Amino acid sequence: MKARTCVKLGITSRKVVLPGSATAKELLEHICRLNDDDSIDGILVQLPLPNHIVKHDILEEVDPRKDVDGFHTHNVGSLLLGHETLVACTPFGVMELLRRSGVEMQGANAVVLGRSDDVGKPQAMLLMHANATVTICHSRTRNLAEVTRQADIVVAAMGRAAMITGDFIKPGAVVMDVGTNKVSDRATVERLFGNDEARWSDFNKRGYIWVGDVDERSVKSVARMLTPVPGGVGPMTIAILMKNTIKAARMRRGIAC
Ligand code: NAP
Repeated sequence: MKARTCVKLGITSRKVVLPGSATAKELLEHICRLNDDDSIDGILVQLPLPNHIVKHDILEEVDPRKDVDGFHTHNVGSLLLGHETLVACTPFGVMELLRRSGVEMQGANAVVLGRSDDVGKPQAMLLMHANATVTICHSRTRNLAEVTRQADIVVAAMGRAAMITGDFIKPGAVVMDVGTNKVSDRATVERLFGNDEARWSDFNKRGYIWVGDVDERSVKSVARMLTPVPGGVGPMTIAILMKNTIKAARMRRGIAC
């Protein structure tokens, strides 16, 4: 999808595919080459990496000026300080969806479910910079539903299929579902979607469906807005990746963003 979107926009994209057995050293050699190549404006290391490679060691070697995923320590630090920088695509996409939907963030209670480096932490920072009062929840949070029921905005990024049901949500809240969970057993599809034709058609075609962290059927009737999965945060993430690529190209050339 990323490569296809590049083609649509007239951005040249190059896919470097290494075997799963590639060493960290081999991967780093490719990254160094791309760092040094002046014709390259953006580098994205597709995650997850094989277990024998330490993610952090690799991401730190990407030139921060070409780090279109916004995962380099330099960019994460700049985000923390509120400086203009390349920001992680998914949380930035969530902000864009909130802004474009006219959701009032100033003074709002926002609860972020998940504290990963890629989504939860940058999401919390972005919401705080937008003047929301932010609570970050994780697997050790006590009485999760009590916390989420205080929220005007809930961002669910846990990787737990349909865990957030209507009783977690305050009536009228805005719910952004980042979760992307592959469900491949019929009983779960039945339990979550009954005889929803579109879901069953997808399931029968592929043998699985994508399900968010939010239970669509129970949350829809309580929330004011809910992003769909698939088709919500996912496509916006790709849009922001393209935006970051243009931004990286401009920043590297000293052109105003
Ligand atoms: P991750 O690194 O596995 O982090 C999951 C976070 O959720 C952790 O902080 C974990 O807490 C927390 N968590 C797990 N179970 C929980 C529970 N029962 N109650 C409360 N918190 C819980 O995952 P991630 O990379 O952030 O991704 C999260 C989800 O978003 C996944 O489904 C992923 O596929 C999806 N995603 C989608 C996009 C997109 O473009 N749509 C992009 C990125 C990710 P601990 O820290 O305590 O373990």
